[in-house]
This record gives sequence, structure tokens and C-alpha cells, in this order.
Amino acid sequence: MADSFKCLACNSNKYHMVLDMGEVPLANAFVQNSEDTADQNREPLSLVMCLECDLLQIKDEVDRTKLFSNYLWMTSTSSGAKTHAENLSEHLWKRFGNNEKKPFLVEVASNDGFFLEHYRDAGFDILGVDPSNFAEEANARGLPSIRDFFGVDVVNKILETREKPEVMVARNVLGHSSELQDLVAGMQKLLSAEGTLVLELPYAYMLRAELQYDTIFHEHLSYLTVGSLHNLFKRYQLKITNVDFVHMNGGSLICEVMHENSKVASNDQAMLAFEKFIGLNTVNGWENFAKDVNKQRKDLVALLTDLKNKGHKVVSYGAAAKFMTMLNYCDIGPDLVAACGDANTRKQGLLCPGVHIPVVSPKELIDMSPDFILIGAWNFKDEIISVMRNKYNFKGEFIMPLPYPEIID
Ligand SMILES: [Zn+2]
Repeated sequence: MADSFKCLACNSNKYHMVLDMGEVPLANAFVQNSEDTADQNREPLSLVMCLECDLLQIKDEVDRTKLFSNYLWMTSTSSGAKTHAENLSEHLWKRFGNNEKKPFLVEVASNDGFFLEHYRDAGFDILGVDPSNFAEEANARGLPSIRDFFGVDVVNKILETREKPEVMVARNVLGHSSELQDLVAGMQKLLSAEGTLVLELPYAYMLRAELQYDTIFHEHLSYLTVGSLHNLFKRYQLKITNVDFVHMNGGSLICEVMHENSKVASNDQAMLAFEKFIGLNTVNGWENFAKDVNKQRKDLVALLTDLKNKGHKVVSYGAAAKFMTMLNYCDIGPDLVAACGDANTRKQGLLCPGVHIPVVSPKELIDMSPDFILIGAWNFKDEIISVMRNKYNFKGEFIMPLPYPEIID
């Protein structure tokens, strides 16, 4: 095989192709108008499994500078994030809190400091690390943050002035890291001897079970299972000491990780046995995935075409990165979906990458008198339905695209 591949976690060049989606524009490359060429830069997108360490990952990495040039997303724009931040900070304080001494908590990829603020209010002494300009915004709001990519270098810098933290939090970080080995090496180096690293990440079991292929996009580089995490941490003398689940991003794992020689026993044996039982970390276990995804595409386009032929107006809601993957993979344009509503004012007035569906405000979307709303950001399904019904008095029906296209009331 002439093409190059190097596993993000173990450097192996042996892989198995799970799903080839062809060439797709970058999910955040929204354009101003149809002459704007920002989205013409299509990049190959395919999911593979490393045959050495089982890590599911994107085969071809895109230049990092291209990916972050159009950053239109912030944690705090979603109201679901608020509840989650409250719950998580309460949970962390219950587990690791100590009123005698404020435990030191470092958050990796702290974004605009939205979660940091909750951890601080819960009682932790906090520090965030984030590569974006949001780190500076957080600092200005009194939430100590370092602007940098998290890895061994920044850890050395932190350790010049600080003790090792008792708690580290990394939400949705591992899967987005192009420097996975340096990231985990940095975590291992920074974490105190009996400290706990708390990870939140979308569970690749849900990717398979719910056919969430739209979560595959260029910025989302790896798709984790307890098995692949176990293999990854083992190489850095770390172990999984607790596994939990949370309804975020379509079903996420919350894993607690400690040093291999910690007094706390590892606790992932049952999950590893379960994943072995369902073949989650094997090539055979993913055998039908591409076929099922292809069927969903055909069924969704058929449903939208049928509604259009019957004279119905269909729009969508939630211009999330994942929805851009789906629209482009299915080649759904403004002829089938007239507009895409989104509350993020930074996206309104722009066109979706590749397929050029206009992004409008929720109010403008409703003013178009749609009969059906295709739910783009399905992980916020309940929130979207409730806002559209109660705030905008939408009387039509909703379409859930996954795991199979379905009209719901
Ligand atoms: Zn590997």
C-alpha cells in the first residue's frame, strides 16, 4: 500500500479501512457567499482502525493551521453545557473535594473558561490550558489560564511554579489531539502520585450502535473505546480506575485514570470483557458499519426527496460540525433543505461548507413557515424540539436523521 499512515497512539503503519467518506470540505469552513472559495479545499475523510493498538482514527491528517482558521464555536453558547458544567463540578467536588485544603485542579483545553469557573465555584484551586485566544479571555475574567497546546513542554513550565495537581480534567480533548502521545505524556508527567485524571470523551460504541458517522470530521481525529484507551494509557504507566457514562455528545465515557503504581486498583476489566464480547475492538466488529452508513444516506435522501415532491418545505436546525459531515456525505443542498437555523450569531448569514445551505437565526427559520425540521445537532434533540415548540410555536414535524431517518412528533 503506497499511501502513508502513522497511528496517532503507537506509530504503527498497519490499519484496516472502516469507512471511506471520500473528499469532504472542512466542517468549520462556512462561506460568505457561493463565490467564496474557502470551502473548496476538500480533504479526504476516512475512518480506520490501527491493527496494533485498535485505535479508531482518521486516516489522513489535515494541516492544523487550516483547521483552526475558522473557529466559530464556544462552550458557553449551548445551554446544555451549563447543566453539564454544574453537574460535573458537583460530582468532582464530591469525589475529590476537601474543605481543609483547596485541591488543585488543572483543566486541559479549558476553552473560554466556562467549566473552570464552575470548578472554582465548587471550591477547587484552578488552572486552565488552552491553545486558542479564549485562554486570554478567560484570564481577563479572573480564571487563570495558559495559552498553549497541552503537552510535556507546557507541563515543565507549570511545574516551575506549581505543585502537581490532585485533579486533572480533559473533556473532549483526546479525540481532537493530533499530538496524542505528547498530550498523554504531559498528563502523566503533571498528575500527582495519587492524583486522578478525569476524561470525558464520546464513546465509539455509540458511533457503531447509533450509526453516528456524522461525528467523524477532520478535527475529530480519534474515536475511543475503553480497550483502545487501556492500551494507550498502559504505554504511559497509567491505568483506568473508574468508568462511567454521561449523555453528552451522543453518549460519552467518563474515565478516571491514575498512575499504574497508585494504591487504587484498576477497574476496567468488566468493560474490556464487554467490548471483547461485542467485538468493538476488532475488524470484524466493524464489518457492517460502512454498509449501514451507506443505507442511512440513501434513506435520508429518499425521505427528503419524497417530502419535497409532496410540496413540503423542509429546513434544518443546528449548524454543528457533525451536521456538515452528514450534509456533505449525503450531498444534501438547498433544494432539499432550504435553510439551517442556529442560535450562534457567528454562523448566521453564512453558508454551510460545500452544500451552501444558508444559516439563519431561529426566528428567520420559523418565518419561512417550514413543515418539517431536520434535526442537525441531534445530541441537542430535546432542547431543539422544546425551543421550537414552546418559544417559536412550531406546529410541524421533526426528522431525526440517525440511526435511521425517522419522522417524530
Ligand atoms: Zn496504533
